[in-house]
Amino acid sequence: MAVPNYQAKCIDSRNILTILAAEGVQFLLSGEGKVPLSSCYGKTTCLLFSANWCRPCKTFIPKLVQLYDTLRARCEKIEIVFVSFDHNENEFKEDFKSMPWLAVPFDVNFNRRLLNMCHVKHLPSLIPLTWDEITSIDQEDLIGLIEDYGVEAFPFTRSRREELKAIDAAKLEGGTLEDLLAHEGRNHVENKDGRKVLVSDLVGKTIGLYFGAHWCPPCHTFNSQLLEAYNEIMTTSKEQNCFEIIFISTDRDLNEFDLSLKSMPWFAIPYLDKTRRDLCRIFGIKAIPSLVLIGEDGKIVGTNGRAIISLYGAKAFPFTQSKLGELEAALKKEGDSLPRHTKDTKHEHLLKLDMAKAYVCDSCKQRGRFWVFSCDLCDYDLHPTCIEETS
Ligand SMILES: [Zn+2]
Ligand SMILES: [Zn+2]
Repeated sequence: MAVPNYQAKCIDSRNILTILAAEGVQFLLSGEGKVPLSSCYGKTTCLLFSANWCRPCKTFIPKLVQLYDTLRARCEKIEIVFVSFDHNENEFKEDFKSMPWLAVPFDVNFNRRLLNMCHVKHLPSLIPLTWDEITSIDQEDLIGLIEDYGVEAFPFTRSRREELKAIDAAKLEGGTLEDLLAHEGRNHVENKDGRKVLVSDLVGKTIGLYFGAHWCPPCHTFNSQLLEAYNEIMTTSKEQNCFEIIFISTDRDLNEFDLSLKSMPWFAIPYLDKTRRDLCRIFGIKAIPSLVLIGEDGKIVGTNGRAIISLYGAKAFPFTQSKLGELEAALKKEGDSLPRHTKDTKHEHLLKLDMAKAYVCDSCKQRGRFWVFSCDLCDYDLHPTCIEETS
C-alpha cells in the first residue's frame, strides 16, 4: 500500500480527519463506545499524545481534565482526541478511563505514524487542529499556555495568547491594585483568623506581595526578618495605616498553606484562588522567598524587596528609590565621620572600621548593622557608639 505524503507544514482538522479516514479509522472512542469522526466537526479539536508511563503526562492530564470539564460546562465547542502511547491495549483502556474526551482506537503502528505526521517531539503533546496557519499556536506552546492560564487559554489561538500577554503586561505596568489582587468572584484578602479586608481598602497603601511557602527553609529565615520589619512599621503610628503585606502562597497544598499563614499577622490571597498563579506569572517569580513592593500610587516600586528588607528592615519604608538613596547617603556620611582605626579601653587590640550586615556588640550585647569596629585578631565587635577611646 502506498503511503500518502503528509509532509504539509500545518495539518488542519479537516485534513487530520481525512487522514484518519484514509488510514481506515472509521470511528473514534468515547467512554461509552464508538462515535463517528464527524463528532469533531465545528469544534476546537486537539490531538493529545500521551502515555500512562510518562511522568509529565501524569501531572498534566488531571489539569487538562479540569480544563475540559470547565469548558464543556460553559458549552464551549471543544474536543480532545487521545492518541495513546501506552504499552498495550489493556493499559490504554485503563488510561482512557480517566479521560472524559475521545480517543483514536489503539494501534501502536498507526499512532506512531500519526506522531511523525504531527512532528511531535515529546509527551505529552497537544496539537491544535485549527483551520489555518495564521491563527494556530505552535504545538510547543500550547501546553505551556494551558499551564500558565488554565481555562483562559481557550480557544488556544495565537491571538488569544497575545491578548493574555497584553493583559499581564498592563497589570505589571500599573494596573490598579484591584486588577492585580481581586477579580469578579473575589474582592477581598483574608488573614489566618478568617478576617477579610476589601482590596479597595488597601488602595493608597504601600503593599508588599510576599511569595513564599512552608516547605522552603529560606522562607522561614526571611519570614522572621519581614515580621520584625512589619511589626516595627505597624507600631509607628505615622505609618501603620500606610503599609500591608499580602502573602502569595506557593505551598503544595491547603494544609501547608494554613501552616504558613499561622505564622503571619498579615493577609493572603485564598489558597484555592487562581490569582496566586497569575501573580507568580505576571511578576516572573522563579524563586522564593520573594517580595514585590508596590507604592501607594499602585505602581511597582521594586521586585527586590527581599534584599531591601534583609539589608535595612523597617528603616527602608516606604521602599522608594529616594528613600533608599537617603539611607545610602546617611550611611556613607556616618562612615565618613568615623576614624578608620580606633583603640578601645575594653579591648587590647587595634579595632578596624568595617561594614557588616549583622553583628552583636561585645559591649552592650545588642545587635548591630552596617558600621562596626572589629578586631582582626579575635572575634570582637563594637558599635561605633559603644567605643570608649583610650587617650
Ligand atoms: Zn554596643
Ligand atoms: Zn582582639
